[in-house]
Amino acid sequence: MENPKLLPKNEISNSVPNSRIIVITSGKGGVGKTTATANLGMSIARLGYKVALIDADIGLRNLDLLLGLENRILYTAMDILEGQCRLDQALIRDKHWKNLSLLSISKNRQRYNVTRKNMENLVNSICSLGYHFILIDCPAGIDVGFINAISPAEEALIVTTPEITAIRDADRVAGLLEANGIYNAKLLVNRVRPDMIQQNDMMSVRDVQEMLGIPLLGAIPEDNHVIISTNRGEPLVLKKKLTLSGIAFENAARRLIGKQDYFIDLTTPYKGVFQKVQEFFLGYEA
Ligand code: ADP
Ligand code: MG
Repeated sequence: MENPKLLPKNEISNSVPNSRIIVITSGKGGVGKTTATANLGMSIARLGYKVALIDADIGLRNLDLLLGLENRILYTAMDILEGQCRLDQALIRDKHWKNLSLLSISKNRQRYNVTRKNMENLVNSICSLGYHFILIDCPAGIDVGFINAISPAEEALIVTTPEITAIRDADRVAGLLEANGIYNAKLLVNRVRPDMIQQNDMMSVRDVQEMLGIPLLGAIPEDNHVIISTNRGEPLVLKKKLTLSGIAFENAARRLIGKQDYFIDLTTPYKGVFQKVQEFFLGYEA
């Protein structure tokens, strides 16, 4: 007799949603990968999806700080691999959204000997828990940590600022992603300053996008609220009154889940702001 607690075999695949496994990467450090992972993850969770964030940035672990979860991490992926705990014990639930969880790979550099296979197994196990989105916050650089972080991913989000050094590194990373079989990459341009673009002191988002030739997911303005929210451990998108950067992250999150019509359908009082955002960043109207 079949175990009533288990689904019949032919229904198992239907019960587990197709997870989207997205690595957030950049090449150059400090361009906003972790900020983007936290805010996009929170936004997607608020839209009702089950989201797991993986902090693959060993030693420089800070996704937990951005989410205000630093005191809740008892176990990391290293503990799972060493048999010290189960996966669900290392998946820390967010304070605000129970459908958002965080897994840190390791708390310190000394205890890091994760292989690509380990990463793939971990991500597969998370998928089988029914997560719709798994966002992997990539470590800086393009060495072993980077290769491990990208190996389970099927899609990538490449973060850059509108500076030539960051763009060059983003281009290099795009090539490495392709070489590793990840062809589905999108671009997030962060720390954009419309005032500087108008003065011709900064490349426009469109220039950056055209240089890289990667489809644009979104553009985030330079905004002091990003730093304030980092320090408080509260992602921007949680604020009751969204700031411009918060709106921009929400917008990017909606595009990520496939709501392309966001600008057009907008009938909220924010309409004016959204249109301005698009005009400023992209140089054209919706
Ligand atoms: P990475 O993970 O790529 O190293 P972080 O997300 O940690 O980058 O961001 C690096 C620093 O830049 C942080 O101090 C963060 O608060 C700041 N920052 C990121 N995005 C913005 C922004 N749009 N406006 C202002 N500061 C930002
Ligand atoms: Mg980071």
